[in-house]
Amino acid sequence: MRLLIIHDDPEGFCGAVAGELAMPSMICGVSECVCTRAHLGMASHAFSSAVEVAEREFTKHDLVLAAASCLQESGLWSADAARILGHRVADVMAEVAARYPVGLVLRPRYDPAKDCWWYHYELPVRE
Ligand SMILES: [Zn+2]
Repeated sequence: MRLLIIHDDPEGFCGAVAGELAMPSMICGVSECVCTRAHLGMASHAFSSAVEVAEREFTKHDLVLAAASCLQESGLWSADAARILGHRVADVMAEVAARYPVGLVLRPRYDPAKDCWWYHYELPVRE
């Protein structure tokens, strides 16, 4: 399936590991925080300013489990809550990734007014 992985963006920041599964950051509400313009590496729990659309031998169920385990490891949610949220995260990630071609680099921006993420990208130019 098509999903989002961490991209190490030389023009941004990346504390996560390039290629690991990515999910939207939880928004903390601190105005100086980078969480509104980053996604999280599901294994590293670190921020990256860019993600990449990728095709992986994954089922939706795999993605739900990965997201739920990341959420539970954060310590913010119980196992039950993490499982429910994991479904939501996997749905959103699959839906976002399906909109774009494989290999495209996306820069996430959280819009607090609409409570949603926007994805900025540059189309590759022919050289
Ligand atoms: Zn934050």
